[in-house]
Amino acid sequence: MQKITPDDIRYADLAQKRFNKRFQGQPHYIFLPTTTQEVIEALQYAVDHRLRPVVRSGGHCLEGFVSDPSAQVLIDTSLMTSLSFDELKGAFAIEAGVTVGEMYRRLFLNWGVVLPAGEHPGIGVGGHILGGAFGFLCREYGLAADYLFAVEVVTVNAAGKALSTIATRQPGDPHHELWWAHTGAGGGNFGIVTRYWVRNPQAVGSDPFTALPKAPSSIITFRIGWEWKDFDETSFAHLVRNFGTWAGQNSAPDSRFTPLCSFLFLNHRNLGKIEMKGLATGPLAAQLIGEHLDAVATPIKLPFTKQLEESGWLRFALNPFPELFQPGSDSAQIKVKDAFFRNPLTDAQIATAWQYLTANATIGGGLAFATYGGKVNEHPVDATASAQRDSIMDVACNAGWIDPQAAAPSLDWVRNFYKDLFADTGGVPIPCEQTDGAMINHPDTDLSSPLWNQSGVPWYSLYYKQHYPRLQQVKADYDPLNIFHHALSIKAAK
Ligand SMILES: Cc1cc2nc3c(=O)[nH]c(=O)nc-3n(C[C@H](O)[C@H](O)[C@H](O)COP(=O)(O)OP(=O)(O)OC[C@H]3O[C@@H](n4cnc5c(N)ncnc54)[C@H](O)[C@@H]3O)c2cc1C
Repeated sequence: MQKITPDDIRYADLAQKRFNKRFQGQPHYIFLPTTTQEVIEALQYAVDHRLRPVVRSGGHCLEGFVSDPSAQVLIDTSLMTSLSFDELKGAFAIEAGVTVGEMYRRLFLNWGVVLPAGEHPGIGVGGHILGGAFGFLCREYGLAADYLFAVEVVTVNAAGKALSTIATRQPGDPHHELWWAHTGAGGGNFGIVTRYWVRNPQAVGSDPFTALPKAPSSIITFRIGWEWKDFDETSFAHLVRNFGTWAGQNSAPDSRFTPLCSFLFLNHRNLGKIEMKGLATGPLAAQLIGEHLDAVATPIKLPFTKQLEESGWLRFALNPFPELFQPGSDSAQIKVKDAFFRNPLTDAQIATAWQYLTANATIGGGLAFATYGGKVNEHPVDATASAQRDSIMDVACNAGWIDPQAAAPSLDWVRNFYKDLFADTGGVPIPCEQTDGAMINHPDTDLSSPLWNQSGVPWYSLYYKQHYPRLQQVKADYDPLNIFHHALSIKAAK
């Protein structure tokens, strides 16, 4: 296998981060393995030469875990793109370099099925599924990690030897804990995932057409837009309250609204618009959307634009809400600060949101709400490593910029916004009656900083809650030399 060095024509392209240009790595070598054996060889090379390896699949990490100047060997799985049905396991085998969009495409065109996963088609499954992975269909079908049957991981043992292991959900599997850790611990912790096998836990036999949920036969999307200038603090609060109340009332696993997902984008006022977008599947899609908008948007009594569109699932999934990722967004730098909510925002939090979103500043950012729950909340907490199983919304303060001059004010704004939103709990969404920590697929290194997290609850409890000691044991067993580490990686049990 070739080692790509800085003098290679491919190096500059490969060394650059694919999404979120806030970070830049400078690895000595880049490997592009095409098989598990080549991953083993690349990793062994790094270990033998005492070079720090990192792994990348889709390049959509929100922090600098891969594009880290101290990383010396970059192992990029993006040429590992096979997706097939494994009859012996009765599960789809998906290699780490397959992107979410390509996975949707192949599963749909070959078998008419879907793995509920993330929203952006460019995300790599390699760094995605092992972080839980929520998306447009999670209220209806759960997280991608809920379907994980087995995972192949290349790790380094205490003797410094790289080796591959297949770990399965089967209770008697000696590597069951390694499987479990890959249902929510996030990327870059234990080793390099080369392949996932996914199937519905209830599926029997080896029929690919029933091994995963059927893809929606069609969907209806909705887009609602208000002029920011029409809002005052009262109508703003009314809208935020309505969205939270609706999510609180309609996010149980047996809710008839599980086929609907909805987003509220409270953009900064200088961006001109407040928006809602979402989709519903199935024969009642139009009715569900109508009822949702009647509960959340209509009572505000402000004029809004409304666009409904019927689409095939695949057409939508390959280019969902294209206005969210406009040309140029690939060059952007972004900061995302995530929080799970079990209950709606308080009046004080809504007032904080109003203050930051109307602040006299040129900010490209806002506060985004995504409905959560539904079938995600059907699973017992210990069944997977994804610990948050009774939330109703995932909420994120975010900021994006292209001009380097905008970095400091944007970061300052988004960090203080989040800190003030959770002022009553030390600046972070601690597990409590209202909030429940944050999502490891949306990592935020501020949570480990005493400047931004004054709650006394460590970052790992915000992400993993009671699962952290169990994950530490997996780390000790499978990465005893701590070959895989980053700013928020799991520390081995002593
Ligand atoms: C635009 C955008 C939209 C997103 N939408 C969603 C969403 O809808 N739902 C959701 O859950 N998340 C979402 N995310 C977050 C996304 O799931 C995570 O950032 C995920 O880790 C990206 O995986 P990747 O392989 O693309 O990224 P990479 O940058 O390649 O890797 C991310 C992390 O995983 C590790 N990793 C990568 N490949 C492997 C591997 N083969 N084995 C072990 N570790 C590996 C890396 O070392 C790194 O720590 C989104 C992110 C972006 C930027």
